[in-house]
Amino acid sequence: MKNYEIVVVGGGPAGVTLSKMLGKKYNMAVIRPENYSMIYCALPYAIEGLIDNEKTFKSDSLVTDAGVDLIRDKVTKIKGDRTLELEKGEPISFEKLIIATGTVPFIPPIPGSELEGVSGFKTEDDLLWIQEKISKDINDAVVVGAGAIGIELSQALAFKGMNVHLVDMADSVLPNMIDKEMALELQYEMSNKGVNFVPNSRVVELKGDKFVEEVVMDSGKVIKFPKSKDGKQTGIIVFAVGTKPVIPTIEGMDIEVERDGIIVNSKMETNVKDIYAVGDCVQFHSGIDGKVLSGKLATNAVPMAKILGFNLLGQNREYKGFYNGAATKVGKYFVGGTGFSEKTAIQRGFEVVCGYSEVTTKFPIMPTKKNKKMKLVVDKNTHRVLGAQIVSGEPVVGRVDLLTYSIQKKSTVEDLTELSYASQPHQSFYPAANLVVLASEDVLKKLKK
Ligand SMILES: Cc1cc2nc3c(=O)[nH]c(=O)nc-3n(C[C@H](O)[C@H](O)[C@H](O)COP(=O)(O)OP(=O)(O)OC[C@H]3O[C@@H](n4cnc5c(N)ncnc54)[C@H](O)[C@@H]3O)c2cc1C
Repeated sequence: MKNYEIVVVGGGPAGVTLSKMLGKKYNMAVIRPENYSMIYCALPYAIEGLIDNEKTFKSDSLVTDAGVDLIRDKVTKIKGDRTLELEKGEPISFEKLIIATGTVPFIPPIPGSELEGVSGFKTEDDLLWIQEKISKDINDAVVVGAGAIGIELSQALAFKGMNVHLVDMADSVLPNMIDKEMALELQYEMSNKGVNFVPNSRVVELKGDKFVEEVVMDSGKVIKFPKSKDGKQTGIIVFAVGTKPVIPTIEGMDIEVERDGIIVNSKMETNVKDIYAVGDCVQFHSGIDGKVLSGKLATNAVPMAKILGFNLLGQNREYKGFYNGAATKVGKYFVGGTGFSEKTAIQRGFEVVCGYSEVTTKFPIMPTKKNKKMKLVVDKNTHRVLGAQIVSGEPVVGRVDLLTYSIQKKSTVEDLTELSYASQPHQSFYPAANLVVLASEDVLKKLKK
């Protein structure tokens, strides 16, 4: 039986990161079943036709150039005697095991969910399935879940000419990223782009004989796909309502797992010696309040893998938690959020004060300036920054990262009012004001009242 010092189960961003870091030092293998490791974030843009499907495939050389054996197979059992059973190949043994098996889209087990025309959105197969439906002139789509993935997919489908309904239980889009008042113009923009947002609605049943024909919501509303004369399918429904962790079958050892994933400590160690877990298959904790936080992102999977990688190279690093910095694009708007929204902060027990600001992306006298606005969420008692949201006509990731860093470093709103910033006609508002400082000053004013 072939033995490895380290085996990683899973070839997503977490598995690739570990290969690059550890391949030269350890006798190591990565096991993954699919033909390609994919850039999932880019899938909506492949549907839109902005990039070819092949551009979403990562090269295997990312793993193999590091001297790591890439085994294209599926682990069917992790056994207590430190061996792995594989679907196709011979069993292998390991000294250290890293579980990086990610998640799969969650499709709620409602009546009709087994009908043809129902899908999640993550794999190459999902991508090809949607593209095939578009090519067969299926013109109607319901996307469930108005988070970043649901929004990006809806826009791509509408761009390809489909009639798209985007359904969510929440009363506004991007409910885990931004609060309702920040989302209003985005909803207007989506409807301009051909996406009909259906708020306050939970999908409870799908009806049809062979394929889905009607989508029933708890509000009583029903979306009916048009009847075709020859009885052919006319619509699809894609769920983007969240994910569930993939936990391989484990026999002969008791690895602790909860609803949101495998339990690890700050060094990515499970409760079983020499068995680690990283990435989306792990239950995340917020770096702000230490409590469980859902919402899985590659920008969290990679730092987790890095912490483990550095520790296996002899360092002593600790993972401090997930801060949820994220971004998306809604029509002409760039949108980002970090930390807790006002709604989430209140749900998690904080008393909050929020500040707002609005400036232009360039000096207002410049011809191509656009608007940008921000909301800042601050803990009323400690004045600690808890979260921020930005909607802008220009990219927001740099600003979101700055604000995430301020949350990571436990900055107070007073700290943010002292931010030293840059200004230039093409790149910012006048030196007289800065988006972050203005929002912080707004919070301070309200705190003093
Ligand atoms: C459409 C879409 C858009 C996204 N956009 C963004 C974005 O813009 N920004 C961002 O930060 N994140 C984004 N994400 C999330 C991001 O892709 C995930 O957080 C990231 O892929 C998680 O990495 P991972 O390595 O933990 O798991 P995954 O990427 O899920 O990889 C898991 C791997 O494990 C393998 N595996 C599972 N079970 C077994 C088994 N039994 N045996 C062997 N192998 C197994 C899988 O086949 C896969 O190779 C997006 C996701 C989707 C679906």
